[in-house]
Amino acid sequence: MGLLLKIFIPLLGLALALYFYSAPENFNEEMLRGKRVIVTGASSGIGEQVAYHLARMEAHLLLTARTEAKLQKVVERCLELGAASARYVSGSMEDTTFPAVVVREAENTWGGLDMLILNHIGYSYFNYFNGDVGHVRKLLETNFLSYVAMTVSALPMLKESEGSIVVVSSMAGKMGSPFAASYSATKFALEGFFSSLRHEFIIDNVNVSITLCILGYINTENAVRAISHVIRSTPAPKEECALEIIRSGALRQRELHYPPWVVGSMVLLRNIAPDLLDSLIRSNYEVENLRRT
Ligand code: NAP
Repeated sequence: MGLLLKIFIPLLGLALALYFYSAPENFNEEMLRGKRVIVTGASSGIGEQVAYHLARMEAHLLLTARTEAKLQKVVERCLELGAASARYVSGSMEDTTFPAVVVREAENTWGGLDMLILNHIGYSYFNYFNGDVGHVRKLLETNFLSYVAMTVSALPMLKESEGSIVVVSSMAGKMGSPFAASYSATKFALEGFFSSLRHEFIIDNVNVSITLCILGYINTENAVRAISHVIRSTPAPKEECALEIIRSGALRQRELHYPPWVVGSMVLLRNIAPDLLDSLIRSNYEVENLRRT
C-alpha cells in the first residue's frame, strides 16, 4: 500500500501538472499594464509579493493591511519597481466598515477598478480546536465576511470595467485540515459564496471573472513560523505563488491549484478516495511536535 501510494501520488500529480500547464494559455505581463488593482493583505507574505509583481508589470496599486509602517515600505518598493502608481489604506478587516473605505479610496483615486485581489487573513492558532466560538466568529468576519463586503462595494466598478475578482483560499478550504478548524471553516465558506456568485454572474451576463486560488503550503514567514515544526512537507516559494495568482486572475481562470502537482492530486483524491486522502493528510503531520494548549 505504502509503495503504491509513493508511486501513485507523484504520477497523479504529474498528470495533473501536465494537464494544467499544457492548457492553451497566453499570459502576457502587459495584460496588467495600467490596470487598477486592489491587493488586500499586502504588507507581508504572498500579498506583498503580488504587489511587487504587479508593480513590475506597471499596474496602478492600492494596497491594504493593518500595519502602516510595513505598507509604506511596500509602496516605496512598488514605486521603485515601476508601478504606474501606488498608495495604501491601513485598517483592520475586523472593522465591518473598513472594506467599503478601501473600495471608496479606489473609486476616488481612479474612478474605476479592474482587479480585486482578496488575500488577507486574520490570526488563528494552529492547534486542537479549543472550543472558542468567539474566535471562529471573529475569524469569519476577517477571512470571509470582509471578502463579501469588499466584493459588494467593488462590484459596480468591476461590472463597468468587466474586471476580475481573485480570491486567495487554501487546501484547507477544500478538505478538512487538523489543527486549523476555524481557519478551514472560513476558507470553505469562500468557495460556497464565490462559486454561487459565479453562477449568478453567468446567468445574469455579468462579465466579471472569479478566480479561486487553492494554495498548498507556501514559505511565507508567518506560515513557516506557525506550522513548520509540525508539517513534514517543504513549502513552495511565495514569489512564484504570487505570480501564479496574478496569471490565473488575468486569464480569468476558474481555479488555480498551486503548487499544481500537490494541490491537483489532493483535490482529485478527495473526490475518489476521501478516507485515503484524510489518512495521507494526517500522515503529513508530526503531531508529537505540537504542544497541546
Ligand atoms: P501573511 O504573511 O500572514 O499575511 C497576511 C496579511 O493579512 C498581512 O498583510 C497582514 O498584515 C494582513 N492582515 C492580518 N490581519 C488583518 C486584519 N485583521 N485586517 C486586515 N489585514 C490583515 O499570510 P500569507 O501566508 O501571505 O497568506 C496569504 C493568503 O494565502 C491567505 O489568504 C492564506 O489563507 C493563503 N494561504 C497561505 C498559505 C501559506 O502556507 N502561506 C497556504 C494556503 C493559503 P497586517 O498584520 O499588517 O494587518
